[in-house]
Amino acid sequence: MITKLTSQKTICNSYLIEEDGFVVIIDPGQDGVVEAEIDKNGWTPELILLTHEHFDHIDDLEQVRTKYNVPVVACRICSERLGDPKTNLSVIADILSYYKTGVIAGEKSPRITCRPAEITYEDEHEMEWRGHRFSFVRIPGHSPGSVLITMDDEYVFTGDYMLLDDETTLRLRGGDPEAYENIAIPIMQSIPNGMKVCPGHGPSYVKGEENEPH
Ligand SMILES: [Zn+2]
Repeated sequence: MITKLTSQKTICNSYLIEEDGFVVIIDPGQDGVVEAEIDKNGWTPELILLTHEHFDHIDDLEQVRTKYNVPVVACRICSERLGDPKTNLSVIADILSYYKTGVIAGEKSPRITCRPAEITYEDEHEMEWRGHRFSFVRIPGHSPGSVLITMDDEYVFTGDYMLLDDETTLRLRGGDPEAYENIAIPIMQSIPNGMKVCPGHGPSYVKGEENEPH
């Protein structure tokens, strides 16, 4: 079962994949939404997978990994950029949140510093978890540490790529329009129609059916 959770601060999606009471967390997100859902259901987290290093996707990372004592899986570049508020963009969190929500933060958001991931890989990686297969491929353009995570050739977790209602931002620190053009676009085009796309912001949809009601 896949549960999608959306934090309000930046309208960022986290996903929980559950099997027999155990869960994989994709992007811990913000506002404690992941923790609340896990505790409500009495689930046991086993892995945290990251789509990329940006603050809205990792705001609760330290809290969640410490509370449940679970390893984090990220590409090496993402892992290296988690610890620096400039590269995880938490230094400009309030400005970015304002652009997303139109709400001026009442209190200044803290700068986020996360420890590196326990499990890292370079450009591609595969792993098994309780009968599921996860494939990872690095997809620079939005950020150097961005990846797509595919589960069972059925679902693809895209982070800040393939958003239904929004363009992928290439203008932030670490953004690379050339890499987007030359690397990211071909990777996205190679995803077959019929795959369920689960982005880091906005609604999920079926690739090839973007214009149908969802
Ligand atoms: Zn991002």
